[in-house]
Amino acid sequence: MEEELARAWIAAVTAAVRTEADRLTELDTAIGDGDHGVNLRRGFDAAAAAVDSLAPGSAGDVLGKTGTTLLSKVGGASGPLYGTLFRALGKTLRAGGSLAEGLQAALDGVRQLGKAAPGDKTMVDALTPAVAAYAAAAGEGEADAARAAADAAAQGARATVPMQARKGRASYLGERSIGHQDPGATSTALILAALADVTA
Ligand code: ADP
Ligand code: MG
Ligand code: MG
Repeated sequence: MEEELARAWIAAVTAAVRTEADRLTELDTAIGDGDHGVNLRRGFDAAAAAVDSLAPGSAGDVLGKTGTTLLSKVGGASGPLYGTLFRALGKTLRAGGSLAEGLQAALDGVRQLGKAAPGDKTMVDALTPAVAAYAAAAGEGEADAARAAADAAAQGARATVPMQARKGRASYLGERSIGHQDPGATSTALILAALADVTA
């Protein structure tokens, strides 16, 4: 991944989070504590500012900086999880890995930290199919792979609606978590959609 693309991705995520913050907060009001949009807006505003003032380097530097900023600025479950996601991505790219490898490392990091499996109604339900779709389409080039990942993430987010949450605050609701789309799976789909948009 080129550094300019990584910078464009973070800028696009920040814009999308600003546009969708109210919807993310509404989703989190239904099955959580209603702060997901606010959490992510604070985090990505800070990440975008940190990336803007970051000296030229590499895509790995940009994504790593995004991760450390999210870790320090976002409380709650999503801050450490998205911080881990972007830090793993940055670390893999800095070590010369591909974006497909970076996305896999990001998923591994999120799963290791949060201990959520597919079907638990979390961001893992959007990220898992996205990583698989990216890998399957990687041979067709970055743009096609990113679009496939974004489509899979969106579908994965929609698939959380009938699930009962087994991780995070929504799990406290038990069966009452059924029938609502998971906020974190929804924001993961936004992040992948932003990647597809800047890669197209
Ligand atoms: P909090 O729940 O602490 O208020 P947020 O509202 O910012 O944090 O984020 C909630 C989202 O975090 C959930 O919708 C879910 O996708 C994700 N999440 C929560 N716990 C976990 C976990 N253990 N593993 C993966 N994702 C999780
Ligand atoms: Mg919340
Ligand atoms: Mg909270």
